[in-house]
Amino acid sequence: MARIIPQPGILEIAPYVGGQSRIEGMAEVVKLSSNENPFGPSDKARAAFARTVHTLHRYPSTDHAELRAAIGEVHRVDPARVICGVGSDEIISFLCYAYAGPGTEVIHTEHGFSMYRISALGAGATPVEVPEKARVVDVDAILSACTDRTRLVFIANPGNPTGTMVPMHDIERLAASLPGQVLLVLDGAYAEYAEGFDGGARLVESRDNVVMTRTFSKLYGLGGLRIGWGYGPAPVIDVLNRIRGPFNLSQTQLETAEAAVRDTDYAERCRSENARLRAWMVEALNRLGVATDASFANFVLARFAGQAQAEACEAYLQTQGLIVRKVAGYKLPQALRITVGDEPSCRRVVHAIGQFLEGEE
Ligand SMILES: *Cc1c(COP(=O)(O)O)cnc(C)c1O
Repeated sequence: MARIIPQPGILEIAPYVGGQSRIEGMAEVVKLSSNENPFGPSDKARAAFARTVHTLHRYPSTDHAELRAAIGEVHRVDPARVICGVGSDEIISFLCYAYAGPGTEVIHTEHGFSMYRISALGAGATPVEVPEKARVVDVDAILSACTDRTRLVFIANPGNPTGTMVPMHDIERLAASLPGQVLLVLDGAYAEYAEGFDGGARLVESRDNVVMTRTFSKLYGLGGLRIGWGYGPAPVIDVLNRIRGPFNLSQTQLETAEAAVRDTDYAERCRSENARLRAWMVEALNRLGVATDASFANFVLARFAGQAQAEACEAYLQTQGLIVRKVAGYKLPQALRITVGDEPSCRRVVHAIGQFLEGEE
């Protein structure tokens, strides 16, 4: 009998499955399965990355002061209340280790991002899933699910894989109505794609129970480098910094991210190109009879007649060298999540879906 056993909860974690990136026997594929920026990072970020080759023998900054200052200027937040991590995934796990644990509950929503459940279980807490209303986060259902064991509530706004948004007045009402021991986490991985949206930064500033997480993996095109950040009340950021490793980010990550966030022209070009192609894709899919919700992110959730049709379409797209994301694991078996790529990729995937539907008739 094994005596070396992990902590309770660990074996309940189903390992995270990333977006597929290869098709057997195909050299050239179009990957629209991981919500990556099809244009990659800005040239300024690439140049900053290359420059760090000269300082690889030096330990990195432990306080991330320069990156936090840049984030503060560009996103108009107080750099003293910013914490940087190895992707926003690391901020999510800091929050779970610091505020949840055995005997406590962590709320996430029906179609919510899988890292919330994984990190909650990793910390020994019990994840609690709350239903959404037609693929939109339901604030009242969250309030009904709160108990005296609840410690954290995770909401992605815009959501992944739905792409939908909860209006800020609902989020404000949620923050104001949560039990006193509950911290609300607003995951803003796609906040930059929603025009004029601050990800909840102003709400963070007006309350003591709200934290926002952000990432360089999506709009900034740096998913491969792993950089994210969090913004919260000073006491919360102080707690998270106590469990953060002093050298959690390399100098390469820090300097590349700083150059990326400062290149606001490039970010704006990526944002507006995404908005243009997203609108085109939604309209083209709807014309083919494929239903979508209004998306505020860099992907579109295409809803098919049922699970069988979604699966058949995904398989057909693979024969055409196109990889999209199946989201049955997010309780959306009838849907496929399609990242907004560059224009040729968007046209190819819509054309292929049209061919698939024609072949079905
Ligand atoms: C992609 C994504 C993230 C970003 O994770 P990183 O660790 O920063 O790469 C966070 N939340 C959601 C909902 C995402 O889709």
